[in-house]
Amino acid sequence: MGSYSEKDWALQKSTVKKQYSTFVKHLKPKDHKTLAKKAEDLNEQAFEEIDCLQCANCCKSIPPIVNRTDRQRIAKYLGMKVTEFQEQYLKVDGDDDYVMNSTPCTFLEEDNSCQIYDVRPKACRQYPHTDGNEFTDNINLHVQNIDYCPAVFHIVNQILAIPKRKS
Ligand code: SF4
Ligand code: SF4
Repeated sequence: MGSYSEKDWALQKSTVKKQYSTFVKHLKPKDHKTLAKKAEDLNEQAFEEIDCLQCANCCKSIPPIVNRTDRQRIAKYLGMKVTEFQEQYLKVDGDDDYVMNSTPCTFLEEDNSCQIYDVRPKACRQYPHTDGNEFTDNINLHVQNIDYCPAVFHIVNQILAIPKRKS
């Protein structure tokens, strides 16, 4: 895998987004299994190079969905009633989902750690949805996440490079 470069990400993200959109348009269902396997390997390699604690772009830019189970778990952890937690920390977005009401997230610490890490929302645990089947299950989502997540940029860039290497 080519090594991760923040400069490449900044310079190439628009081009990679366009190329990935075309790639997805032509992707056949029968190719999903192979792609998921490749994504699993690339995901592992990307996070060996990229340290989320040095980045935290997702926590600074994208309000995560906080589902009912998340709300109950986090409210309990904070010693609050679910309704109090919702009023203080959440809002309802255009899709009628509860999301964090502050960007960057209220629970993001100065050192980029998460105050509620052990009980964080499922959406935070699963982001950026690039591990194996998660990658193919969220195949269209990665286009927008290329803007926010260097790992997504790097994984997608490597996937786009595969046919080029063979030719
Ligand atoms: S944006 Fe990606 S690389 Fe950055 S902290 Fe979030 S998951 Fe990690
Ligand atoms: S809850 Fe934690 S992991 Fe999720 S966005 Fe906030 S700081 Fe980041």
